[in-house]
Amino acid sequence: MAEPSDKINLNNPSEVARETLRRLAMRRLAPTPDNYQTLYEEISGVPTAPPSNAPSAATVLAGLVMDLNLHHPQLADSANALDQSIRKEDWAMSRKQLGQISRLLIAKPEKSAPPAVAAPPADNLALLRESLAKTLEFGVASLLSHSPPLADKAKQIAVAFRNANTEAGLRDALAKLKNLWVGIELQGSDTHDQQETLKRILLLLVENIGELLDDDTWLRGQLDMVQEVIAGPMLIKSLQEAEKRLKEVIYKQSMVKHGLREATARLKATMTTFVSRLSDTLAANDEYQGKITAHVERIHGTEDVIELNRILESLINETRIAQADNRRAHDQLVHERDTAVQAEARIMQLETQLTEMSFLVREDPLTGSLNRRGMEDEFAREAARADRHNSPFCIAVIDIDNFKALNDARGHQTGDDALVHLVAVAKEELRLTDHIARMGGEEFLVMLPNTPLEGAVKIITRLQRSLTKKFFLDKNEQVLITFSAGVALRVKGEGQDASIARADAAMYVAKQTGKNRVCTAPDAPAAEA
Ligand code: GH3
Ligand code: MG
Ligand code: MG
Repeated sequence: MAEPSDKINLNNPSEVARETLRRLAMRRLAPTPDNYQTLYEEISGVPTAPPSNAPSAATVLAGLVMDLNLHHPQLADSANALDQSIRKEDWAMSRKQLGQISRLLIAKPEKSAPPAVAAPPADNLALLRESLAKTLEFGVASLLSHSPPLADKAKQIAVAFRNANTEAGLRDALAKLKNLWVGIELQGSDTHDQQETLKRILLLLVENIGELLDDDTWLRGQLDMVQEVIAGPMLIKSLQEAEKRLKEVIYKQSMVKHGLREATARLKATMTTFVSRLSDTLAANDEYQGKITAHVERIHGTEDVIELNRILESLINETRIAQADNRRAHDQLVHERDTAVQAEARIMQLETQLTEMSFLVREDPLTGSLNRRGMEDEFAREAARADRHNSPFCIAVIDIDNFKALNDARGHQTGDDALVHLVAVAKEELRLTDHIARMGGEEFLVMLPNTPLEGAVKIITRLQRSLTKKFFLDKNEQVLITFSAGVALRVKGEGQDASIARADAAMYVAKQTGKNRVCTAPDAPAAEA
């Protein structure tokens, strides 16, 4: 259908409003604020997606009511009814009122917009009162949203104007309005003062942060910019910029502070260790000790790196003085300690050698049998044990037969080798508890603990036999080695020499009676205690 929007003067709100109502009626649309707004925008060309601060549909409808009051005083009743229904958000009633208004407007289009001056004075006053009330309610109150008491006051004054039917009422409303202006003005200057004070505090703060920084040029640069921004006019954009830069400064500063705290803790720990070590070393120096203690207290009591450095410097100075005094004593101590350490090492080395040597000297270096000293040790030990346990302890003196002849025939070295062979065979043949010792030359003593005389004779005889089987080889030539032996049973408490003498005597008998024999010593008389 044709919609003659080209005939409408878009600068005349009442014409747009009238056309809006006409279209609502023609399209049979419900006159809801949204429908009204959509059609209004369609006609006036205002975008359908308004910015967030665009007036609401209710505000637009309220504007329509004002227009109607202003340009169509004959529709004042309908306009007021519409106004009431908008306030109550009663859209069914609003629709009814709008329908009636549009019918009236369409019915008398030419007479609907008489010039405002043509209206009777009483109507003009009512219109003015209403306009003022609306301005206060929809304009001023929302502007004063940051100050609820002033906003409330504006709304109360709007009501006062609306109800000011008498001159006195009007004067009263005007007085209240004047009072509101004063309030708004005061509020404005308050806000300005507050802003200026905040600015000063902020500048002071930024300046002080700058003082706290040492040589961090990045942070300094950031702060200078913040100061510049704050010093300029208080534009929202520059304030946001200042906020961003301050946040960066605070973040960077927290990082630096963390690192500094760590470094300080490390320095403190190192210094405390240093001092306590020094204190240990020079514990005797009471005066120095006192100074050190004072320094330790100072170190614990400060977080300031500069102060810590100062303490360190003074510590080093005092240490130097104390060190000079103690240097000689210290060097001497160190020298003595080194000497002691060296001596200790030498002692340990010698002790080891001694142990090895004392063990070695119990042995005959040629044959590996016990030497005389080893023989004496073992005899004493076994004699004591035999006495303790009342056990038989036999000894045998062994003398190689015709050894001189062997030496003479085959050489001294072969003689030596023959001695080695005899000991090797004896060690194989004897029990682990038995011992063989070289008494000298080609004479040996065999000690047989826990063995009666007959047993000892058997063992020595067996050794003789084994020598006939295990030949001594000289240059791949089998050489028979024989020996003569005298066995004696040691009597309790008998000494080494006495026992050996009896065994030796028995051995002599063996030599005398044909060699390669084992003779026993006659029972010894009980030894004197
Ligand atoms: P008998 O049967 O009567 O014991 O005669 P023998 O030749 O064994 O007796 P004698 O005591 O007269 O000779 C011992 C010889 O043993 C003297 C010495 O040359 C030799 N001799 C002693 N000690 C050693 C030694 O360590 N090595 C060598 N190869 N010979 C030794
Ligand atoms: Mg001999
Ligand atoms: Mg001999």
